[in-house]
Amino acid sequence: MILKGVIQMAHDILLEAIQQGDIVIDATVGNGHDTLFLAEAVGDEGLVYGFDIQEQAIENTKKRLTSAGKNQQVKLILDGHHHLEQYIDENANIKAAIFNLGYLPKGDKTIVTKPDTTIKAVKALQNRLVVGGVISLVIYPGHPEGAIETNTLLPFFKTLDQHFWRVIKIDMFNQVHEPPFLIVLEKRK
Ligand code: SAM
Repeated sequence: MILKGVIQMAHDILLEAIQQGDIVIDATVGNGHDTLFLAEAVGDEGLVYGFDIQEQAIENTKKRLTSAGKNQQVKLILDGHHHLEQYIDENANIKAAIFNLGYLPKGDKTIVTKPDTTIKAVKALQNRLVVGGVISLVIYPGHPEGAIETNTLLPFFKTLDQHFWRVIKIDMFNQVHEPPFLIVLEKRK
């Protein structure tokens, strides 16, 4: 298929920006699929910072990275992404970041990302992102908290200054049951 799922599309877009040796962020490591993707994209010389508030997620991700032999270039941090300024140098040149929102698949569905902390993290990243850098967010409107998250995040992205940010939204237009959709921000200057 040419048109892929939103997570795969996010990866394809991020690969346009990421080069070996880059510094990137996985803001919600979960089960580590995106973290492994980023670790492979930046290579042995790069650095991935991975955040999650659940020990289970950090452990799952650590296991996935270890079995792929890719844990050397990843720093896993058991803390919310909205505290990223405490862990990442203010002069670090961040090339890309992934947010895959919602709850941990096969985990506790009551622990979910929150719009206020997501926006706080995105704002902190906007300052640290290099020109040409990208931030992707996969958003799940189909659960109650996800609907609230969607209604808070969309107006925030919609009002970003177009001179500084190019913003796209990709959704599966004809799917029933409120499928996830993708937002990507690119820093223009
Ligand atoms: N990217 C993951 C993967 O590839 O498997 C899936 C992520 S899952 C959909 C969402 C994750 O966000 C959960 O593991 C949850 O614990 C985490 N989360 C919730 N609030 C968070 C926060 N403030 N900071 C960091 N992670 C958070």
